[in-house]
Amino acid sequence: MAKTVSVAIDGPAGAGKSTIAKALAKELGYHYVDTGAIYRTVAYFLDLLGISPKDVDGVERYIDELTVAIEYDEEGKQHMIMNGMDVTDEIRTQDISQKASLVSAHKVVRDMLLDMQRSVAKKHNVIMDGRDIGTVVLPKATVKIFLTASAEVRAKRRTEELLAKGQKVSYEQTLKDIQQRDYQDMNRPIAPLKQAKDAVLLDTSDLNVEQVLTQMKQIIGKKLEK
Ligand code: C5P
Repeated sequence: MAKTVSVAIDGPAGAGKSTIAKALAKELGYHYVDTGAIYRTVAYFLDLLGISPKDVDGVERYIDELTVAIEYDEEGKQHMIMNGMDVTDEIRTQDISQKASLVSAHKVVRDMLLDMQRSVAKKHNVIMDGRDIGTVVLPKATVKIFLTASAEVRAKRRTEELLAKGQKVSYEQTLKDIQQRDYQDMNRPIAPLKQAKDAVLLDTSDLNVEQVLTQMKQIIGKKLEK
């Protein structure tokens, strides 16, 4: 099988990873894989069962009853399928963001999802975004980019995104939520959020989407030339 190309984009919540990764994937004709959505699906499943995301025994006991699948529609949009049910829209709330961050700290959850993520990258050229793609999931990724921005800018972007979807959120609450998730994601013992040694750092605080895209394309182009 021909070797596939993988672009790993990691960074904290609201850094613009999914917007940028989606646009890049479309342009390059790669598969876009939003790995956060997989953790959100696990969190949503446990939430439906009334299991606290901090309950180690509960998570271990019920995780085997969950089947997660990723599907793509004709437009290339990623859909999350939880035990046969499409939960793509349901997982996009602030409450599930928080729960996904707690659920993703469990070893049993991370182990379960690792192969799934790797197998997509083995079969297709991918742009994969998450927290541990360059460090754990695809340590040999062709290109690694660490996308970040100040917590204030990220909270502003996330608030606008959620308000546009009709959700009732405030900037202050979103900022708190982002800071808490940053802390949890960076300080967990397994696969914490951190920049891979060989990743290129890109701070998007003062850049618009077009500018980020231009810089990303330059970074990817340079790596692929080598
Ligand atoms: O990217 P998104 O905000 O949808 O991710 C939700 C949560 O899932 C993150 O806060 C993080 O805790 C977890 N996650 C992870 N590893 C990834 C992607 C997401 O732990 N590769």
